[in-house]
Amino acid sequence: MHVALRMDDTLRRAALLYPEVESVIEGERSWTYRQFQEEVHQLARVMTRMGVEKGDRVAVLSPNTAAMLQLFYACFQLGAVVVPLNTRLLPHDYLYIIEHAEAKLFFADDELIPLVEPIVESLTTVTSFVVMPVDGRPATRDGWESYSDLLAAESTEPCINEIAETDLATILYTSGTTGKPKGVMHSHRTLYFNMQNTMFHLGANDSDVLLHTLPIFHVNGWGTPFSFTAVGAKHVMLRKIDPPLIHSLMKKEGVTVACMAPTVLNMLINEPRFVEDKTTGPMRVVIAGSAPPTAFVRTVEQQLGWEFLQVYGMTECAPLITVSPIKHHLLQESEEKRFRMKAKAGIPMHNVEIRVVDDEDRDVPKDGESIGEVIARGNMVMEGYWKQSEATAAAIVNGWYHTGDMATVDAEGYIDIVDRKKDIIISGGENISSIEVEGLLYEHPGILEAAVISVPHEKWGEVPYAIVVLRPGTILDGDELDRFCREKMAAFKCPKGFSIVNELPKTASGKIRKVELRQPFWQEKGKLVN
Ligand code: ATP
Ligand code: MG
Repeated sequence: MHVALRMDDTLRRAALLYPEVESVIEGERSWTYRQFQEEVHQLARVMTRMGVEKGDRVAVLSPNTAAMLQLFYACFQLGAVVVPLNTRLLPHDYLYIIEHAEAKLFFADDELIPLVEPIVESLTTVTSFVVMPVDGRPATRDGWESYSDLLAAESTEPCINEIAETDLATILYTSGTTGKPKGVMHSHRTLYFNMQNTMFHLGANDSDVLLHTLPIFHVNGWGTPFSFTAVGAKHVMLRKIDPPLIHSLMKKEGVTVACMAPTVLNMLINEPRFVEDKTTGPMRVVIAGSAPPTAFVRTVEQQLGWEFLQVYGMTECAPLITVSPIKHHLLQESEEKRFRMKAKAGIPMHNVEIRVVDDEDRDVPKDGESIGEVIARGNMVMEGYWKQSEATAAAIVNGWYHTGDMATVDAEGYIDIVDRKKDIIISGGENISSIEVEGLLYEHPGILEAAVISVPHEKWGEVPYAIVVLRPGTILDGDELDRFCREKMAAFKCPKGFSIVNELPKTASGKIRKVELRQPFWQEKGKLVN
C-alpha cells in the first residue's frame, strides 16, 4: 500500500532514533527529541479541542523559537495548514494576510503582539488567540491563551490525523519584493521533496548543529528545520540577528552549519569579534543565495573560514531548485574558477527539471552568455497561489513554473542568475544586469551595500542609477564613484547618477526592495535623468 509522505514523520522518526539527544536549544532552555515530540502531541491535542480540523489554517507570528517549530509540527500532525507571518510587516499587511488565509487560530510571540494589536479586533475568522513564550519564559496577556498553560501535559499519547500527501501543509506568503504578497500553497509532498534535497545537498547528519540565522517564517527557513530534525541534529534558535551573539553561540554550541542572507554575512565580515577571533569551532558550511559576486564569495571563505555553498530557489518551489555543489568545485584546478563556480546558482537538484528559455519558449544556447528566463518543473512546485487562480495560471504554464529570473547556462549546465526580469535595465536596446553592476561596485573598498536600479532617461528610455551605503568612516562623492565605474565597466553600464544613503530598504529576508527605490524616480517626471 502507498504510504503518504508527511512532514511530521521527520520528528516522529527522530524521537524514536534519538530520544535522549538534544533537539532544540533556546536561551537557557533545551529539549531532547523525546520531550520535543511529547510537547508537540500535547499541542496537537489542545488544538483539536480548540476546534482545529484537517485543512484549517493556523497563523503564527514569531521569530525563530522552539514554540514555533513545535507549532509547525503540531499542524503537520493534524493536517492543519500553517501560515507563518513575516515579522517585519505593518498592521494592515497582517490584517490582509490573516483574513485572506481565513485563519482559525492565531499564535503570536509575546514580544511581537504590539505589531498586531491595532488589528486584532478586526479579525473575523480567528476564534482563539495564543500568546507564545519568549526564551522559554511563559507569557500571559488579556484575551490570549497562554501557550505554556496549553502545554501543561495531561498525556503524551500521539495525536495524529490521517492525511493524503497532497493535502496542504502550509500557505507561505511571498516576500513581496515585487508586489503584494501571494499565498504560496505547499503540500506535505512538495515540502518533503525539498526537505530531502536539502538534507542531501547540505550533507545533514546527526552530528550537525544548525544555527537558525534565517527566519523560519520565510519559506520555512529553506527546508532546514525539517531536514536537520529528520537526521537528529541539534537546532540552536536565534531571535534576532546579533553578530556578537552569533559569534558566542557558534563557539558555545559548536555550530556546524547556518544559512545566511548576504546582508548578514556582510555584518559578520565587519564584526570585530569575527575579525579578531576566527576560532568559531567546527562551523563547516554557510549556505547562501542571492547571486553574490565572486569577490564576495572569496571574502567570506577567506575571512570567516567557512565553505560557501550557494543554492537558488523561491517560495513557489519550496524553495530550492539548484545547488552549486562543493565536491564539483574541488575538481577544478584553478582557485579562480572554483570561486567563479561557487558564485553561480548551480545545477538542478534531484527530481528538478530546469530550462532557460527565450520569449518563444526555445532553450537558449549553453554558452554562458545568452540570457533567458529560468523555468522549473518537478515535485517541489507549489500547488498554486491561494485563492488566486489567475496568478497561478500565469505562473505555471504547462506544468512549468516561470520564475521571473533571467539567467545564462554554461556548457557544464551551471545556471547563473543575471537578474530578475523586472530589475533588468533596458537602456537604448542594451540589457544591463543590475546584479552585475552591483558586483563591480562592491569591488570598491568603501562600499558596504549597493543597489542599482533603472531610472527614466529622455534619450535611452532608462539608464542605471546606483544607491549606495558606505562603510563607516569612508568619504566618497558621486564624481569619485563615477570615475571608479568608468574604469571598471562599459560606458553604457555605468550608473548615470549616484545617491549615498545610510540604509537601504529591505524585506525580512534581507533583500533590497528595489520597487521602493525605483518609485520616486518613476513617479516624478521632474527627476528625469539626462
Ligand atoms: P515576491 O515574489 O513576493 O516578489 P521574492 O521573489 O523576493 O518576492 P522569494 O521567493 O523569497 O520572494 O525569493 C525568491 C527569489 O530570490 C528568486 O526568484 C530570485 O530572484 C532570488 N534568488 C534566490 N536565490 C538566488 C540566488 N542564488 N541567486 C540569485 N537570486 C536568487
Ligand atoms: Mg518571487
